[in-house]
Amino acid sequence: MKVIVDLDVCEAYGQCVLQAPQVFDLGDDDEVVTVLDADPDDALRERVEAAADACPVDAIRIAD
Ligand code: SF4
Repeated sequence: MKVIVDLDVCEAYGQCVLQAPQVFDLGDDDEVVTVLDADPDDALRERVEAAADACPVDAIRIAD
């Protein structure tokens, strides 16, 4: 699974970090999210899908 974040769209809301902290990170001063793991194990699929659903600006895309 590949995780792609459109950083032009990301507004650092951090919803993705709450859903999948193994994959996404956001520091206090960060203006966009950091993808910690762009190719996460399939065991994290539900969490990554929840992160994509939770993103208010639809910045997260999952490619199989
Ligand atoms: S939820 Fe969306 S807008 Fe918020 S930090 Fe994650 S990718 Fe960016």
